[in-house]
Amino acid sequence: MKNLPDCTHTLARTSCRTILSAALAVFMAFQATHAQQEIENIIVVTLDGFRWQEVFEGLDSAVANQKRFHGGDSAYLFQKYWSPDPKIRRGLLLPFIWSTLVTRGQLHGNRRLGSNVDMANPYWFSYPGYNELFTGYPDSAVNSNSFPNNPHVSVFEFLNRQPGFEGRVAAFGAWEAFSRILNAPRCGFPVVAGFADCGGMDPNANELLINRIRRDSHKPWNEDECFDVFTHYAAMEWLKTRKPRVLYIGYGETDEWAHEGKYKAYLAAAHQTDQWIRDIWKFVEGDAYYKDKTALFVTVDHGRGDKQKDQWTSHGQSVGDSHETWFGILGPDIEATGEAATESQVYASQFAQTIASLLGCSFVADHPVGKRIEVLSRR
Ligand SMILES: [Zn+2]
Repeated sequence: MKNLPDCTHTLARTSCRTILSAALAVFMAFQATHAQQEIENIIVVTLDGFRWQEVFEGLDSAVANQKRFHGGDSAYLFQKYWSPDPKIRRGLLLPFIWSTLVTRGQLHGNRRLGSNVDMANPYWFSYPGYNELFTGYPDSAVNSNSFPNNPHVSVFEFLNRQPGFEGRVAAFGAWEAFSRILNAPRCGFPVVAGFADCGGMDPNANELLINRIRRDSHKPWNEDECFDVFTHYAAMEWLKTRKPRVLYIGYGETDEWAHEGKYKAYLAAAHQTDQWIRDIWKFVEGDAYYKDKTALFVTVDHGRGDKQKDQWTSHGQSVGDSHETWFGILGPDIEATGEAATESQVYASQFAQTIASLLGCSFVADHPVGKRIEVLSRR
C-alpha cells in the first residue's frame, strides 16, 4: 500500500499538466510537500461528555466524598484513583493519556494553565456538539438530540469522496444518533451506531460473535446506546481487517453514568476507554501499514458542571461550565509539546479542518468551516 494518493498528491498531479517550467516548479513543490506529509491515516476518538477537570486533575474528591455519588464505595474509589498530588492522581485515572500521549503528543484544555478549549455552539449537549466537531460548523439550527439526518457534510464524508480515501472511512459509535449526525443514508461510508450490526455485507467470525453478544446484552439505555465494549471491539476488528485510513470511534458510557450520578462508573468508563486507546495505539505501532503514518485525535462533545458540585452530572445551557472541553493529539507530524501551558483559545469548530489538513486536504463544504489549529504540526 505504498504511495497512496491523497489530496496533496492529487493537487500536484493536476498542476503538472501545465507548461514545462510550471510543471517543474510544481513537481519540486510536490516533492517538498510529499517529504513533509507523514500522516496518511487518522483515528478520531470521543468520550461523551468527559470533563476536562478529571482529565487534568483526576478524581474530584468534592464529588467522590458525597454519598449520593460514590454509591457507598468511596474506599474503592480513593484506593484506586487517589493521590494528594493531582499530577499523580490524573495518571492513575488515565495512564495512557498521561504517559504516551502527553510525552509524544499534545494535550490541550487545562484552564488552570490558560489553555482553553470550548464548544462554539450555544447548546452544550451531544448532537450539536458532534455536529460542530465533525462539520466545523456550530450551526444553531442543529438544536436537538432527536434532530433528523444532518444536512451538513462532515469531514469524514468529505474525505470519503477524496481520491485515495474512497471506501477507506468508517465510523463506530455506541449512541444510535451517530447514524443521523453523520447522515448514514447519504455519507457513503459505514456507520455502525448503537445496536446496528458490524461487519457490513461480509462480517467475519469475530464480527458475527460481537453482533450476537451485543444483541443479547443488558440494555440499561434501551435501544439508544450499547455498552462501549461492543463499539470498541467492532471498531478494532474493522481497523485490523479492513485497514481504514479514517476511523471514528464514539464511546458513550462516561455521559450515561454521569447523568445517573454514578461517579464510580463514570471514572471506570474513562479509565477503561484510556486502556482501549492504549490498545488502539499499540496496534497502530505494531502494524506495518499504520506505523509512523497514523495520527490519533481524542476529544469530547461537551463538558459538564463543576462549580456547583452537584452539577457535575449534567450539562447544557443551564449548566454554566459545560462548554469547556479538551483534546489530545498524537502522531508522526505532531510536535511533542505535551500539556499546553500557555494562554490559548481553541474551539471545537476548528477540529474538522484540522483533521483534514493533517491528511494534506483542505475541507471545503457548503457551510462555513472553522479554521485549522495552527500550532499542532511540525510543518
Ligand atoms: Zn449527556
